[in-house]
Formats: sequence, C-alpha cells, structure tokens
Amino acid sequence: MIKKIIENLEKSNCSVDGIFIQAVSEVMNSLQPVIENDDRYETYAILERIVTADRIIQFKVQWVDDHNHVHVNNGYRIQYNNALGPYKGGLRFHPSVTEGMLKFLAFEQIFKNSLTGLPIGGGKGGSDFDPKGKSDFEIMNFCRAFMRELHLYIGARIDVPAGDIGVGNREIGFLFGEYKRITRNYDGVLSGKPFTFGGSLLRPEATGYGVVYFAQEMLKEELEEVLENQICTVSGAGNVALHTIEKLQHIGAKVVTCSDSEGTIYDPSGINLTLLRILKDDGRRLSLENYATQVQGSQYIKKADYPIGGHATWNIPCFAAFPCATQNELTEMDAQILVNNGCVAVIEGANMPTQPKAIELFLREGVLFAPGKASNAGGVAVSEFEMSQNASMEKWSYEKVDAKLKEIMCQIYKRVALTAKEYGKERNFVDGANIAAFKRLAEAMILEGV
Ligand code: NDP
Repeated sequence: MIKKIIENLEKSNCSVDGIFIQAVSEVMNSLQPVIENDDRYETYAILERIVTADRIIQFKVQWVDDHNHVHVNNGYRIQYNNALGPYKGGLRFHPSVTEGMLKFLAFEQIFKNSLTGLPIGGGKGGSDFDPKGKSDFEIMNFCRAFMRELHLYIGARIDVPAGDIGVGNREIGFLFGEYKRITRNYDGVLSGKPFTFGGSLLRPEATGYGVVYFAQEMLKEELEEVLENQICTVSGAGNVALHTIEKLQHIGAKVVTCSDSEGTIYDPSGINLTLLRILKDDGRRLSLENYATQVQGSQYIKKADYPIGGHATWNIPCFAAFPCATQNELTEMDAQILVNNGCVAVIEGANMPTQPKAIELFLREGVLFAPGKASNAGGVAVSEFEMSQNASMEKWSYEKVDAKLKEIMCQIYKRVALTAKEYGKERNFVDGANIAAFKRLAEAMILEGV
C-alpha cells in the first residue's frame, strides 16, 4: 500500500516536487509496522488523505520598491491538515520558495505539531520574494502587499502563520499591522509578534533553546552524557542557529562554527555571539567574512572553495552537531566525516537538513540522530503558548514559558524514544517520531469522520 501511495504521488506531482516526495517517503518508510496492525487505516484511507493537502492557495503579490519600480512575486499558503487544531506553521520569504518546497514543509509541520501533543494542525506559506539587500521600507511594502491577500484565508481559529527563513519579528510586526488595518481585528492571527503587541516572551529563542533542551535530555537518557565542556558545531546564522548557539554557551558547551549561504566560520576559541548578532540579527545579512577579519585565530571558509558535495562546518571535529540552516544541507559525505571524527549526536534545528543517505549512515553507525520534526518543535510549541496568551489576554513570565518549553521538549523526546522501543526500533528516533506523530493524527482523522 505504501509503495502504491508514493508511486501515485510521483505520477501526480511530477519532478518539481522532489523534496516533497523525499519527505513523504521518509515518513511512509517508518509506518509499515503500524499500518499492518490496524485495518482502520486502510478503511478510512488515512495514508492517501494524510499525503494530500486540504488546500493550496496561491496569490499574486504586487509591491513598489524605494525607486518606484513595481514588482510581482508569488505568494502561497498551504493549509495541509487541521484534524488536531487550527492550521499552524511558518511563512518563508526566500527566492527558492516554490509550491513543492512549501508542500514538503507543510507536510513535515503536521507531524511536528502532532508530536507536541498540543491542539494545532499543520500548514506553511511564503513567497519567492528575496529580502536580501532590501530596505526596511521595501520589506514593509512587501509584507503589507502579502497580507492584503493572505488575510482572506487566515484567522485566530482558522490558520495562524508564524516566521521561518526570511521572516522574523520585524516581518511579523509589519504583517500583523496590515492585518489589523484591513480587518480591524486585534486577535492572535499570527504568532512570533513583537512582545509589545501580543508576542510571547521567549518566542524568538524558542526553536534554538528547544533544540538544546531536546539534545540534553537525549544525551542524558541514552548515554549519560552532558553537553557542558563539549565541542559543538552549528550551521546557519539565522534565528534558529543564533539561539542554539546562545543556549549551548549558557550551559557551558563550546560552539566553534556557524555558517551562511556563502561560507563557514571556524573559531576554535568559541563563537563570539555578540559579534555574530551585529552581523546577522534583526534581518541584517552582512557577510561572515567580516567575522574572520575581526576575530584573531578564526577562519572563514568560502563555500565556493570547499569540495563539491560537502560543507566545511561538518569537517570540524565535534562531540555533537546541530544543522540549523536549511533543508538537505548535510550530505552523506559530511555524515561520514562526522562519524570518522567521533561525533556522537546530530540534532536537527532546521527542517530536514540531513539527506536520507546521511541519516541511514548515522543510524547504522550508532550516532544518536534527532529529526527536526521532534527536536525543533520548541518554536511551534511556544507559538501555541502565544495563541493561548492572546486568547485569554494574559502575559506569561519568561520563567513560566521557559519551564513549559523545557517540559514539552522532554515529553517529545520521551514520546519518540518510547514509541521507537515499542516497535522494536530502539534509538531510531526517525521511526519513533514518525510513528508517534502519525498515530495521534490518524486517530483524530478517524474520529472526525470523512
Ligand atoms: P533565518 O532566515 O533566520 O536563517 C537561515 C540561515 O540559514 C541563514 O543564516 C542563511 O544564510 C542560512 N542559509 C539559507 N540557505 C542556505 C544554504 N543553502 N546553505 C547554507 N546556509 C543557508 O531562518 P531560521 O533560522 O528561522 O530557519 C532555519 C531553519 O530552521 C529552516 O529550515 C526553518 O524551516 C527551520 N525552522 C525555523 C523555525 C523558527 O522558529 N524560525 C522553527 C522550526 C524550524 P543567508 O543569510 O546567507 O541566506
């Protein structure tokens, strides 16, 4: 049955949706033992229904730049599945955005959201707009134009978007401002809002901090190990990477790398987070080359100067690796180098950053591997906390949000590890995550009827 579903998808989605098929195949490959044991999944056509989005919305975004030139971009919102709650998932602004890419991200999101145990369904959206090199006013004009269309489809109880690549606090602020102007509604229609108007404390930090909380729990339970005093490597220099580095440094780990789409920084004395923020935080996208010119002993390795098929970040020996940049960034070759250098754990901060053959290698070699849909779920969890605070007009303290985030990451780890064990796949957290998420989602779909 699983083979037939993937064949049908390949036929109907053509080659443009390669990354979507990759995400579906990974999940489906985990589900065989679950499907075999319960006829209801076939009776209710759960697999066919789960791989098909509820709706895919595409719209035109027309906006004017600082020189009065008119531009047109594609905008999307994919409402994938709301069996567990309102559609929930980020918006990505990046020139590589296509319908296929957003389908992959939305599909991953329904499983991630299911794993949190919270009442949230899954969706994703975005645009092929490139924020790089744009002024604040151009970003604002684009966000306003984007919301002029998007507001037709979202709502605090319908679909609640958040940030992703290229969409942070600033963009969510502009989007929310426009939503409010158009609808006159001051409600929790977006999460990741600035704290001054309805945002939750710790939302910007949540994904990165959650990644580290997951890693701590996994290492403690599986290996009786801690991250303190250990060398860690992180890729990326955006929201997820910055806060992963920050939390790792808080707990005494030594982070020696970061990267962006142009290259990697290796700083053996430990990444200088203050400088990194000056270069990259709040939507600034200055080259990492500036880091190496300002920090003695650090090295900038340009992507173009590194052998094809691998990334300099993963060539640096480490105890634990945290891919936090983008999908498919960690190749089989990178995985082999990490294994050869004695890396014991890989914890994904980005969505699907590890290629399938690299995952196989980690599992084969006994490297603890935490898939993003489990380890990076802290962001969406705190987004749901933001929705709760907005609905009840409350403001939770930093300590309360942090404690709840920690608790939820530990629960996700336990759910994933126990499910893997239950199905005879001990320490296979990919299967554990896929099966646990699927069972909760499928149950809701069966109970709500067709
Ligand atoms: P940001 O836009 O803040 O940062 C993305 C970072 O990745 C930038 O440093 C960017 O560099 C780098 N990057 C982008 N493309 C590439 C590439 N092809 N090769 C190397 N580096 C690249 O995004 P986020 O930090 O928010 O998101 C990072 C990942 O985490 C994504 O996979 C996202 O889906 C996932 N995620 C994010 C969540 C959130 O709360 N923000 C929640 C859960 C998952 P450059 O500036 O040069 O483009």
